[in-house]
Amino acid sequence: MVGLETKTPSSNFIKNIVIEDLEAGKVQEIVTRFPPEPNGYLHIGHAKSIVLNFELADEFKGRTNLRFDDTNPVKEDVEYVESIKQDVAWLGYQWDGLFFASDYFEQMYDRAVLLIRKGLAYVDDQTPDQIRESRGTLTSPGQESPYRNRTVDENLDLFTRMRNGEFADGEKVLRAKIDMASPNVNLRDPIIYRVLHAHHHNTGDKWCIYPMYTFAHPLEDAIEGVTHSICTLEFEDQRPFYDWVIRECEMPATPHQYEFARLNLTNTVMSKRKLKLLVDEKVVDGWDDPRMPTISGLRRKGYTPEAIRAFCREIGVARSYGIVDERMLEHFIREDLKLKALRTMAVLQPLKVVITNYPEGQTEWLDIENNAENPEMGHRKIPFSREIYIESDDFMETPPPKYFRLFPGNEVRLKGAYFIKCEEVIKDADGKVAELRCTYDPETRSGSGFTGRKVKGTLHWVDANHAVPAKFRLYEPLIAEDDEDDSQSFLERINPNSLQVQEGFVEPGMKEAAGGDKFQLFRHGYFNVDPKDSTPDAPVFNRIVSLKSSFEV
Ligand code: ATP
Ligand code: MG
Repeated sequence: MVGLETKTPSSNFIKNIVIEDLEAGKVQEIVTRFPPEPNGYLHIGHAKSIVLNFELADEFKGRTNLRFDDTNPVKEDVEYVESIKQDVAWLGYQWDGLFFASDYFEQMYDRAVLLIRKGLAYVDDQTPDQIRESRGTLTSPGQESPYRNRTVDENLDLFTRMRNGEFADGEKVLRAKIDMASPNVNLRDPIIYRVLHAHHHNTGDKWCIYPMYTFAHPLEDAIEGVTHSICTLEFEDQRPFYDWVIRECEMPATPHQYEFARLNLTNTVMSKRKLKLLVDEKVVDGWDDPRMPTISGLRRKGYTPEAIRAFCREIGVARSYGIVDERMLEHFIREDLKLKALRTMAVLQPLKVVITNYPEGQTEWLDIENNAENPEMGHRKIPFSREIYIESDDFMETPPPKYFRLFPGNEVRLKGAYFIKCEEVIKDADGKVAELRCTYDPETRSGSGFTGRKVKGTLHWVDANHAVPAKFRLYEPLIAEDDEDDSQSFLERINPNSLQVQEGFVEPGMKEAAGGDKFQLFRHGYFNVDPKDSTPDAPVFNRIVSLKSSFEV
């Protein structure tokens, strides 16, 4: 490991609370959970929550559950369940318990019945719209429902009949009976159960009523003995209801909710709704398209779990919103790969060069370091012969001042090989540069100690007689600036250059590369062999990140 993860995790306000709770003997063991709704793939924002929950418990020898918050059957799917498990494991975390909120439906139902018996819940016949309209505003109290004072027996009967499927979707709901005049709108008799005749990925057709998230979540935490229930700031105003549910449902365990600011990244769409739209509208090639900020997209692009974890630790946990510069994420993958990745040569936009004084049919194998910054990575041999490719923009017929690369009459160094001099430019019928004729100086072989003269430019190249044709995918943000615009205009603002494919060549040794192998390609950046589309004869490389950034943490 190259030092990325040696830092001790920094302090944060939630950790301080945990330390106090342990010292005061309020809890014996820290239990956290990561509770995704299986309605999409995980993204980099979820990674922040995963790192926080797993590492917090781990630091104090506690436990962390992976719990699927699957209380909304309409949007949920097993495909998402499987992808989430895969992503959490890939990030490097092993959950202690694997649970589904839907496994607790029977217990939740019983707790709702308990509320009814205590006179703390009632069946309301109003439509969802009527309920919303009678809720009042921040400055005016809500209106009590005409059904609010039904007797316990009547409520028990109606709730049973809701469960038995006697009512249509939206016909009846169960509401908590709290306070329609509460200054906290969330306490104005929130809905806790609704009728929904929908097939559930886990419970099938067993249920036609489903608990609302805000009622279900505290119960799930309590059932699992979660001690510190960490969520994002939007839920702060829900905390009084969270505590109400735990108390009035007489749960034996008392979890507490703590809120932190969600991660926002520049140049990144992070709403699951929008990400799903990109997939459904086929703007991208699935949830794992390397342009997606999903864990699976970042993985396919070439991010490592080490880099993502280090990033999540660095951004820290706070209670105030901020937008993190995406270059900070890029910084961590560069740091991680700097000393690990093999440095090889690839030409993305090839221009053929014929070395006229090099013997025809000859190939020599030149020795080159695998990573100049990490001698432990050793050396390899690369072929050199009469025909090579260079990058077409490493040549200019009429160069501007201070241009040190190739132009007619100029001499440059080929990295790891010889000096070559441009003697002649061959053009095609359209007048475009088609090929260069150069000569080489056998005295100048790299490593020979030649000191006769100096050249200012060094070019990367590949041997044309051995090179492997390859595709390179270069990325730009899907959408330069995201705002809370409606979905349609969001789709219209997609960057048409978010994916550019170039066809060039790589060193022959890279034929052996397997999906997921990572390389530094000289001057072009870090690349990942695409795990889906790459084959040994037609390798495909996804650019993870370019080489330099002005941004440092
Ligand atoms: P949605 O509400 O659109 O379904 P969500 O982001 O809330 O999306 P969940 O599956 O409910 O999705 O999230 C699981 C956990 O991840 C929650 O605890 C949530 O707080 C956390 N989380 C989600 N997005 C972020 C983010 N951007 N930064 C930090 N934590 C996040
Ligand atoms: Mg959510």
